[in-house]
Amino acid sequence: ITVSALRETAAGERRVAITPEVAKKLRGKGLRVLLEQDAGRAAGFPDASYADVEFGSVAEVLAQADLLACVLPPDDTALTGLREGVVVVGQLRPHGAASRVSTLSQKKLTAFALELLPRTTRAQAMDVLSSQAAVAGYRAMLIAAENAPKFFPMLTTAAGTIRPSRVLVIGAGVAGLQAIATARRLGAQIEGYDVRPETREQVESLGAKFLELGVSAAGSGGYARELTQEERAAQQQALAELLKAFDAVVTTAAVPGRAAPKILTTAMVEGMKPGALIVDLAADSGGNCELTRPGERVEHGGVTILGPLSLAAGAPLHASEMYARNIYNFAELLVRDGALRPDFDDELVAKSCVTRNGEVLFNA
Ligand code: NAD
Repeated sequence: ITVSALRETAAGERRVAITPEVAKKLRGKGLRVLLEQDAGRAAGFPDASYADVEFGSVAEVLAQADLLACVLPPDDTALTGLREGVVVVGQLRPHGAASRVSTLSQKKLTAFALELLPRTTRAQAMDVLSSQAAVAGYRAMLIAAENAPKFFPMLTTAAGTIRPSRVLVIGAGVAGLQAIATARRLGAQIEGYDVRPETREQVESLGAKFLELGVSAAGSGGYARELTQEERAAQQQALAELLKAFDAVVTTAAVPGRAAPKILTTAMVEGMKPGALIVDLAADSGGNCELTRPGERVEHGGVTILGPLSLAAGAPLHASEMYARNIYNFAELLVRDGALRPDFDDELVAKSCVTRNGEVLFNA
């Protein structure tokens, strides 16, 4: 079996789906690894850092791959270059991507979108949403610290004492908790908020204060549900007043399958301190702030709103290491007795499958 990865081609993308460490583990399983030349270079893994791996052109990889691992969906040309029956694994973003699903189907490919994995304990080792969200949360807080006009930590100097910044994280999922942990390490005075009541303990266990707004909206599968009109109004009213005290706000709130909830309104931003900063990690899916423009820097009444995109790609070495381990752990479910035979009785395989030999199993 030949396991392959191409060099990612999306703008700004520097991660790679197969790292030297994972290539070695695949080889240990008796699999052949064939990568596109320079596949890992932007992530910090030049070809020479891979032992016992073959390299080839895009055409060679597409012609020989039995399993193609990717970070982001390969473009249509790559997909149509694969042979029938090939298995594709990665973040395939099937929601709202009818034409990609149709290409996978027409080419009779078997495709697994790892973002569809159920968030169960067993799936944790292959949970790309979690591994990449942790990177994004870390990076978002560094961007906040870098762009803030203030220090994050308290400093006692001969030139006087500097008070620590007050930082708020809205949405305490995987990214939010990592952002909180990062702000703590930077010495900020940090608070966290989420609509899922169980996050209070998680926020507090990181040494942060939980911001109580009196709105609770636990949904199914451990996720938040969308707020009702009234809940949203209550949340905004409580938050508007409290926001005035913060120097930086990092927002990470998401509801699966929906656009990000708009939590920070223009009026709320206008009530914030001059010099305050918002880093909207949900910019990719529309943003948590009404003023966010994805990928841009917005100045509004003295407040800066940043909507950085592809945050995980900005720390490509560790992001790739975690991602590739996720891929490896999932691939273990696909390769049985030395053959590529996914076990469709396994819910992790069945639920993440977009197409099976061309048959569309994903329903948006
Ligand atoms: P996510 O990225 O979908 O959302 C981020 C956070 O935003 C969530 O904590 C959510 O509650 C919060 N949120 C949504 N709407 C909000 C609103 N209006 N106001 C404030 N906050 C709002 O979440 P995620 O990080 O992917 O994690 C979701 C859940 O899955 C968590 O319970 C997490 O612990 C769980 N999880 C389980 C596993 C596993 O066991 N395999 C792995 C990762 C995450």
